[in-house]
Amino acid sequence: MKFNDALENIKTYEAGKPIELVVREYGIDKDSIVKLASNENPFGCSPKVKEAVRAIVDNMALYPDDSMVKLKTALAEKYAIQSNELIIGAGSDQVIEFAIHAKVHSGSKVLMNSVTFAMYEIYAKQVGAQIIRTASREHNMEEFYALYQEHKPSIVFLCTPNNPTGDGLLASEMIDFIAKVDSDTLVIVDGAYMEYARFKNPSYAVEPKDLVSKFSNVLFLGTFSKAYGLGGMRVGYGIAQASIIEALYKVRPPFNITTLSLEAASVALDDEGFVQTCIADNFSQMARYEEFAHAKGITVIESYTNFVTLSLPEEKNSTKIAQDLLKKGMIVRDLSSYGLNAIRVTIGTSIQNDRFFELTDPLL
Ligand SMILES: *Cc1c(COP(=O)(O)O)cnc(C)c1O
Repeated sequence: MKFNDALENIKTYEAGKPIELVVREYGIDKDSIVKLASNENPFGCSPKVKEAVRAIVDNMALYPDDSMVKLKTALAEKYAIQSNELIIGAGSDQVIEFAIHAKVHSGSKVLMNSVTFAMYEIYAKQVGAQIIRTASREHNMEEFYALYQEHKPSIVFLCTPNNPTGDGLLASEMIDFIAKVDSDTLVIVDGAYMEYARFKNPSYAVEPKDLVSKFSNVLFLGTFSKAYGLGGMRVGYGIAQASIIEALYKVRPPFNITTLSLEAASVALDDEGFVQTCIADNFSQMARYEEFAHAKGITVIESYTNFVTLSLPEEKNSTKIAQDLLKKGMIVRDLSSYGLNAIRVTIGTSIQNDRFFELTDPLL
């Protein structure tokens, strides 16, 4: 069958392997598998969230509150913004999709970093856009600006801290760049790991309110999937001036967030203490990865996130190492599809990290 031509050069997104698949493929006992592949919070979510979700499991017959008033009110308060400056998506992924569909058409250009989150390209190609990438591995605002001037893209993606490399961009550099961009170019600032950056060094974190009060062409993205430990609930959000949010609403399907997910995310915002404790643990465990890599003579990219990217020496092949680890029940992310001979490892609990060091030590 013939499909939309635009699909021909799209590579299907490869998600981190789920535990269920490793059980089936390798016959490994479910409980001995460690998944450090998708940057989830190893401690899960606040116990208050579980309690709240349990309390409403009888409410599944009715459609959810499509105005999402509880979650929007909580987010508006957290960020000191208005409810009409917010849109909620089934993951921030869905907000990326809304933005592409609202702004981009066949022949439009979309500018992004050389190595960055794979979904930007996938959504942009779905509508026939042309992808423009910088050359440097880390976000370089001079390069971005030169390419911006040359191509006048419809959308510029800035992913900071960046996935899958973990490096961050100074908020001041980002803001200087945005100030030079024409107001008809939408700048999407993907802050999926912003909570981690804010903890490690606030100069690398941006306040959505500062972006939205200054710029009419910026969309900030946040998610509950990483620091808030709710990857399975699929909730993310976009923050922008009301005129952008109104456009995104036109491409949003109704009832895109379930009742249980709305409740989980709302209550998660009530327990910031839990999240901050997890983030503090993340960085103390990250120091162990840095030591491990140092002892092995491996380069670690300085990370402002909940994962580390280990750049391997040429004689060690990342695909093979990830495969060898998989056979032992350790799921990490091979970055060869991003053109890097590197593996990305989510920081786990200290026990999970012990296991990583134990299994990886003989391989490196
Ligand atoms: C995880 C991630 C997202 C999206 O996560 P959702 O689960 O869809 O909210 C977006 N951007 C980056 C860079 C990510 O790593």
